[in-house]
Amino acid sequence: MSIASPIVDEPFPLPQRWGAPEVELLTAAMQQQSLFYWRGPQTAALYDAFRSHYPLKHLFPCSSGTASVHLAFAAMKFNPGDEILVPAITDMGSVLGILHQLLVPVFVDISPRTYNADPASIRAAITPKTRGILAVHLCGNPCDMDAMMEIGREHGLIVVEDCAQAWGARYGDQIVGLIGDLGCYSFNDYKHLSCGDGGMVGTNHDHIGAHLSKWGDKCYNRVTGIRNPDELAYNYRMSEPLSAICTAQLGKHDAIVNPRTAMGLRLTEAISDLPGILPPEIRAEDTHTFYNYIFRLDLDTLICTRDEFTAALCAEGMRADGYLPDPVYRYDLFQNHNFFADTWPVRDFGLTTMDYTQVVCRESEKFLQDCVHLPFNEAMTESYIDKVALAIRSVAQRFTR
Ligand SMILES: *Cc1c(COP(=O)(O)O)cnc(C)c1O
Repeated sequence: MSIASPIVDEPFPLPQRWGAPEVELLTAAMQQQSLFYWRGPQTAALYDAFRSHYPLKHLFPCSSGTASVHLAFAAMKFNPGDEILVPAITDMGSVLGILHQLLVPVFVDISPRTYNADPASIRAAITPKTRGILAVHLCGNPCDMDAMMEIGREHGLIVVEDCAQAWGARYGDQIVGLIGDLGCYSFNDYKHLSCGDGGMVGTNHDHIGAHLSKWGDKCYNRVTGIRNPDELAYNYRMSEPLSAICTAQLGKHDAIVNPRTAMGLRLTEAISDLPGILPPEIRAEDTHTFYNYIFRLDLDTLICTRDEFTAALCAEGMRADGYLPDPVYRYDLFQNHNFFADTWPVRDFGLTTMDYTQVVCRESEKFLQDCVHLPFNEAMTESYIDKVALAIRSVAQRFTR
């Protein structure tokens, strides 16, 4: 047997993510007298740069996406034991702040083809203690926000959008993070835009917005200058050098997200006729910005396992693997309810009866068994994507009975 050359015969494309614009603003920051966020010129510029893409009235640039979600829920001042609905497939950053606020994450299942929270599963999980929905726009595909907002209105719930994976995504003509009550964003190293680690939380509601900086800045009031903390807050500030990098990154926002959208749609188009291959479902009116590219395998049609499929793709010169190991509730943290030094005060004090060992989100579990994850970025060209599509086609045909 001869060793054929791989179908994807060019190296994995890598963009140059930082460069002259970042250096220029960082250099300016290094000439300042202070790198403190409060009224520093870099952070002031970040507000403007951010608002040019996400026109939110109240913003707080913070240290991570995790911090942004934590601040969103802290600002709501819910009571210990109150419940927040979150999809079972997401990053830990979606739930850490919820747990630290002594709230109870209630996991809901995903829709099979969008991988976002299934509205029916959300409805089924509502109890008298439900206070909010965390709408995670997974992979950059916007959630069914009409359903989220309708359920929110019906039950008096707040809707927080976790846009960490969804820079530039739009639901119809609406920008993600501006549809719900609060929007949360991440600048970590893996996200479309990055300063290494950073985040942003924002809202258009005055009554919520007034608290964002207070919760993220030790409950100090930087406006009046009066120091008399009256609530348990955090220090989640972003600093001037990171703000400078974020501003420069936002200057490339469209140049980063638009090619991802185009290449993601191109790949979807190219593999949608293949038996056994289930590409992500995207509403025609929405903008998916492909943080990554995940498709599913119909393992009843194909004569292989998911891992055999990804190995065959890798042998064709491309990068492919599975996604997360488990739905969030399967992690030891949840299985052992080990939230505060081996205890969970919320349950110990009778504020919830939640038992994470009993949670099963079937579609989420099935998804993690049969999904194929492709890393994705803005440097991918049409020719590269076409080779990836050919490789998927070739492997799918090889494994079709
Ligand atoms: C990355 C991510 C977060 C957390 O962001 P960090 O900046 O890493 O804290 C939260 N939610 C989702 C969906 C993410 O992908």
